[in-house]
Amino acid sequence: MIPLSQPLSELDWIPRPKLLALRRLEIETVEDLLTHFPRRYEDRTEFAGFPREESENPVCLCGEVVKTSVRRFGGWKKIFEATLQESNANALSQPLVLRWFNLHYVQKMIATGQRLVVFGKPRLRGQRLCMEHPEFEVIENDDEISVHFRRITPIYPATEGLSQRVFRGLVYRVLESLDEASVETSLPRNVDFGSRSHALHEIHFPSNEPELAAAREHLVFSEFFGMQMLIASRRSTASLRSGQAHCGDGALTEKFLRGLPFDLTDAQTRVIEELRRDLASKHPMNRLLQGDVGSGKTVVAVAAMLLAVEAGFQAALMAPTQILAEQHYAVLRRWLEPLGMRISLRTGARQEQSGPLPLLDFGTTRVPRGGDDDSSHIVIGTHALLYEGVSFENLGLVVIDEQHKFGVSQRARLTMREPAPDVLVMTATPIPRTLTMTVYGDLDVSIIDEMPSHRGKIITAVREQAKLPEVLTFMRAQLEAGRQAYIVYPLIDESEKLDVKAAAAEFETWRERLRPFRCELLHGRIPAPEKQAIMERFRRGETSALVSTTVIEVGVDVPNATVMLIESAERFGLAQLHQLRGRIGRGEHKSYCILLTGEKSQETAAKLAVLEKTSDGFAVAEADWELRGPGDLLGTAQSGLPALKLGDLKQDAQIMKQARAAASAILLADPELKTGANQRFRRLVVEKQGQTFSNVS
Ligand code: ADP
Ligand code: MG
Repeated sequence: MIPLSQPLSELDWIPRPKLLALRRLEIETVEDLLTHFPRRYEDRTEFAGFPREESENPVCLCGEVVKTSVRRFGGWKKIFEATLQESNANALSQPLVLRWFNLHYVQKMIATGQRLVVFGKPRLRGQRLCMEHPEFEVIENDDEISVHFRRITPIYPATEGLSQRVFRGLVYRVLESLDEASVETSLPRNVDFGSRSHALHEIHFPSNEPELAAAREHLVFSEFFGMQMLIASRRSTASLRSGQAHCGDGALTEKFLRGLPFDLTDAQTRVIEELRRDLASKHPMNRLLQGDVGSGKTVVAVAAMLLAVEAGFQAALMAPTQILAEQHYAVLRRWLEPLGMRISLRTGARQEQSGPLPLLDFGTTRVPRGGDDDSSHIVIGTHALLYEGVSFENLGLVVIDEQHKFGVSQRARLTMREPAPDVLVMTATPIPRTLTMTVYGDLDVSIIDEMPSHRGKIITAVREQAKLPEVLTFMRAQLEAGRQAYIVYPLIDESEKLDVKAAAAEFETWRERLRPFRCELLHGRIPAPEKQAIMERFRRGETSALVSTTVIEVGVDVPNATVMLIESAERFGLAQLHQLRGRIGRGEHKSYCILLTGEKSQETAAKLAVLEKTSDGFAVAEADWELRGPGDLLGTAQSGLPALKLGDLKQDAQIMKQARAAASAILLADPELKTGANQRFRRLVVEKQGQTFSNVS
């Protein structure tokens, strides 16, 4: 008997090379093997009689090889043919010709006299019925037929280094001797899906279609349930923490808002109200603010931070990049120093405090004097905030900007202190509304679904590479009118290896094209202070065009920049393109986003057309989801959730709903999973937690 947790390396019948191939697929244990689910199935239940005509439906046939031959064509190319005769052939049966082009190894595997099972579409070629490149298996003994044929046969995803047949054989053999008692069924009591071990058998080797469907439903539910238990327990853990109210009476926030050169949108006002309520409650806040690029999340965050400061607490604002932290620092200084506040900046590259000393007191402020960070009302920083021993005397509110750039564990690092600070995470990456609960179920969600008025419109146009000259004429006209432009190209991704030469060459070309307007180059490998200076010159309008990588992606705000040209646009995801174009259309002028692409495929055209049609981030997210599937949406670092192996967030939305309800009910009744009956769920959560955190760096 083999228990589920058994390492495959301890099974002496699996040869070492196969173990290595399995390891490359991250399959180490029996459980890993059995949760490497089939990608699809082939109905090989019946061996069909040999066909008389061609057909679009693949058929599964069994027969004997009566002849083989090799023909050459076009010089060195070869066709290998094997003629297959139906077993128990009668007068009417026609032989079938199997053909492979240039596949030397097939020729070596097939010989006259062998029995073969083939799966493919019969096609008429001249007078003969042929199957080209059929899937085939040589039958060595009749046992094998029972594993691979006369059944609904599983076809597995990538099995590099292992044939489908070998992989299937392994799964079959392991299932045969699986210790059923070791397979725990961790499902809530009120759902009846039968045992997990039965489901595992049926998902790999289904008895019939209904059993397969039931097994899939069981396993998808159990996958979703594990995920929802994790989310629900996170929420529950957070709600058990003791917090404090961090809310002043609002005079300071009022003063700040009155000083702004614009009125808040209704959505901003509504969200500030939601935050005020959370801050005023003793219960720790855990809120996500979703708002499209340019919807004005910063103002909202500042309003909330001022409420905390007014109540005598410090606030921290964490940004994912140096540029963004610097920008926040500059903006907050401009807005808040006149109110007598002290702001400090903490990034890996630079530390600085600014603002009046001695401190002004706000209300009952308890912000201590002297020291460095301890004496600032608001500390702004990058990851350095987490790691460089920034001491907060009195941290009341943590705001995390562009939270998808941080992992769950990083968030935890800043927020896990006692008593719990209130936490606001912000993201400009909208996700389809139906997914919000799934992905961010441990957070309360606020949405800014309205853009400030008087915003210049953004017109988006997809253009072929060949149209570059016209695009250039247009750009130059904009620059002559005093506007500024971004030119974005995907050459230097921060994760890709930096190709400095290519970047420099690209930049030279652009300098020529845009002469006499001043151009500068910006990318992730430029040292921070210099990057900052480049950004600053662009912001002040001394530079007309910025040739850049995606480092300008998040949060950068230069209202006079009205043109964005994105090169090789097809190489970016929709959501990212939408983010990028959010850098323009930030002032009163009409803005233009030009998506340049050299690729002509239908797929690319359909993808980019979405951006021409809509400027609503949620609509873009929906379309992105349609086109690409949700893979990235559940990126581990973003949501801190393990990747899904079987379930499909869209197709199985209903099951997710059930799983969510079941998980919530369990944690509502027993928030700490203390009862004996809930211990199995506790294990589930702890295990998942482990997987998750080890994945997030
Ligand atoms: P994001 O939500 O993408 O972080 P920001 O907070 O950077 O957007 O805001 C974008 C720009 O819009 C900033 O210059 C900001 O000062 C301005 N802004 C914010 N709210 C309003 C408003 N209600 N009316 C006009 N401009 C606003
Ligand atoms: Mg922002």
